[in-house]
Amino acid sequence: MSRAQHPEVGTDAQGSEARRVNAPGLPRTVWKTSEVVAFAIVKSIVGSGLRSGDRLPLEGEMLEHYQVSRESLREALRLLEAQGIVTIRRGPQGGPMVGEAQSANLARTMTLYFQLAGATYDELLDAWHTLEPVAAELAARHPDRAAVISALDTHTHEFHDGGERAAYTAHSNTLHFDVNDLAGNRVLGLILGAVGDIIRTHVLLQIDPFQIRGLIDDDHEAIAEAIIDGDGPAARDAMAAHIAHLLPIYRDHWEGDLDGPIEWK
Ligand SMILES: [Zn+2]
Repeated sequence: MSRAQHPEVGTDAQGSEARRVNAPGLPRTVWKTSEVVAFAIVKSIVGSGLRSGDRLPLEGEMLEHYQVSRESLREALRLLEAQGIVTIRRGPQGGPMVGEAQSANLARTMTLYFQLAGATYDELLDAWHTLEPVAAELAARHPDRAAVISALDTHTHEFHDGGERAAYTAHSNTLHFDVNDLAGNRVLGLILGAVGDIIRTHVLLQIDPFQIRGLIDDDHEAIAEAIIDGDGPAARDAMAAHIAHLLPIYRDHWEGDLDGPIEWK
């Protein structure tokens, strides 16, 4: 990629601070050099089809390419590192690598905003209850029926986990991951994936899935069958019923305060 494709980069002589000229309360239209470089790096990751774990160019090459100061480039990489989009390995064999655009990273950022907004765990669960049935209905309308069956058939019969809690948890979680994927809307999928991640990592760690296994398996089977049948309203209702079954259990078993603010972590 030539510098000409990044006309917005390469004007570092003005200094980063000079670019912060936005009036308070108005949408930002002027960006710091480091932010512009971060945007360009993400564009090049997406444009080159780079995947998690792939190496990014070394610092010297990026400095040459983006024509910015070392300070701005490092700040750009730190911005992306904080979002989990880039990982930077230190040491002689180190360098920047592509991280994972996982909902877990988005979840972490979302908890920061939720906490600052004073949003409660109750509201989080309510949002889940509102959104995931929509995803189930969309999944039922997925045009590739073979893909639907291949993803969800495993939930229509008993799963043999050999008594391994981790194996069972992984299996039961895939129902929700697959419904989100099959819904076919990546915006909804990432939001729901992040909401699910927060619930799993903040609330569910204290709940033994084996104790509610009968309920989970029956509900998941009903959801999977409705989606496989292509019955959108039934899929939506089955998912709403499943979440309605889980909410009182979460309330009873979680030691935290559901009316308390979501914590950034
Ligand atoms: Zn479930």
